[in-house]
Amino acid sequence: MGADDDAYAEPLDHAHSNALSWLASVGERPVGPRSSIEELVSAFAFPLQDEPLDPVSVVDELSRLAEPGLMAMPSGRFFGWVIGGTLPAALGADWMVSAWDQNAGMRYATPAVAAAEEAAGGWLVDLLGLPPASGVGFTTGATMANFVGIATGRKAVLDAVGWDLHEHGLTGAPRITVLVGEERHAAVDLALRYLGLGAPTVIPVDSEGRIRPDALSAALSHVNGPVIVCLQAGNLHSGAFDPMRQTIENAHRHGAWVHVDGAFGLWAAVSPRLRGELDGLETADSWATDAHKTLNVPYDCGIAIVARPGLLEASFGVHTSYLIQADQGLGDPFERVPEFSRRARGVPVWAALRSLGRSGTIALVEGLVDNARALAEGVAALPGVEVLNDVVFTQVSLSFGSDERTRAVTQQLIDDGRVWMSGSRWHDRDILRISVSNWSTDASDVAYSIDAVRQASSR
Ligand SMILES: *Cc1c(COP(=O)(O)O)cnc(C)c1O
Repeated sequence: MGADDDAYAEPLDHAHSNALSWLASVGERPVGPRSSIEELVSAFAFPLQDEPLDPVSVVDELSRLAEPGLMAMPSGRFFGWVIGGTLPAALGADWMVSAWDQNAGMRYATPAVAAAEEAAGGWLVDLLGLPPASGVGFTTGATMANFVGIATGRKAVLDAVGWDLHEHGLTGAPRITVLVGEERHAAVDLALRYLGLGAPTVIPVDSEGRIRPDALSAALSHVNGPVIVCLQAGNLHSGAFDPMRQTIENAHRHGAWVHVDGAFGLWAAVSPRLRGELDGLETADSWATDAHKTLNVPYDCGIAIVARPGLLEASFGVHTSYLIQADQGLGDPFERVPEFSRRARGVPVWAALRSLGRSGTIALVEGLVDNARALAEGVAALPGVEVLNDVVFTQVSLSFGSDERTRAVTQQLIDDGRVWMSGSRWHDRDILRISVSNWSTDASDVAYSIDAVRQASSR
């Protein structure tokens, strides 16, 4: 690089020390941002100057401007939505991925990151107890991982009725019926929309939000033509898992493709203690999950897994004259996802799993569940608090009586800034939802958070 050998040293030193200050602050600071969006917009709203600026001052200025508007999502006291934190090894790997700057689509051109991704994919499939030969693709998140699984299913069910999707497209194709539980995540609907499959047929669920096998069975027996069934591992509000073995068997009897959205809940499969909830999971055709949620890898990273890798590559592979491709063995990373993967998203997954090991991965998942149970028990003992779900995984839904009261407590918690939990609506009630997904949450965070709820609800 010659004269620019040292161009990176100082900006990266400053980025490093700014990052460490941020990380050191998340243990103590209020969880919510200190400045409003309006204040931040005006802080960033100055005209672009004419002259170049020294990169060190750009890095420091960005840190200074952003700091008051950051949400302490990496904090052990953050329980909003389903977010997850960042394991140290995964963050370190992510930094190196940025520095390496590999356009990571081809085994031939970027063998190091392709090999790390393949290794991570192999470990994942093994840990989750899925078919060993499965194809694994890394996406931006579970939305696109769902897209990948369902897209592969779309091609497979049309192939089965003799319709060549790549040749003829969807126009004039036999209609594909997509069956989903009433409480599937909206990401599934989005994936269906992107895929031109329209709105799904909705199947009733039980009180924990699990798809009802009898209702699914009835719907399947009324379907004519190609069908895809989307099951869910991990309901946003209850953490509950759709029943797998029998529903999958039944769907397969009707020739359906079965896809499982397990954005955060698929990880239950790594735990011998929790695996029973997902009995039969491995008999599905495709699965979607996130590494940026339960595995605590930095944003963005989703994972798509398809039992028969040939079908995955038949959906996403493309051969061109300017890409030099692997003709044998595993296909290239870009043949397994809709967008040419440039980010080497599997590399932080490799680092996360390598740092945890098998027992550490199991301990991570079980620790989240134990913390969720402890939180649920602690808040259930407070006056006027009702836990609305069976805490089988990481999600706890609370009511404080009336909708009005629940909303007031939610707002009070946000104002107090001691913890962050999100408001939501479930079964026609306003609720406060706790999602335990941060690796760093410990017993003292749990005790502190129960106290924060006690205080907010006693006003
Ligand atoms: C978060 C989530 C999604 C969407 O995942 P992204 O990573 O945000 O794209 C889909 N399904 C479920 C159950 C989720 O929790």
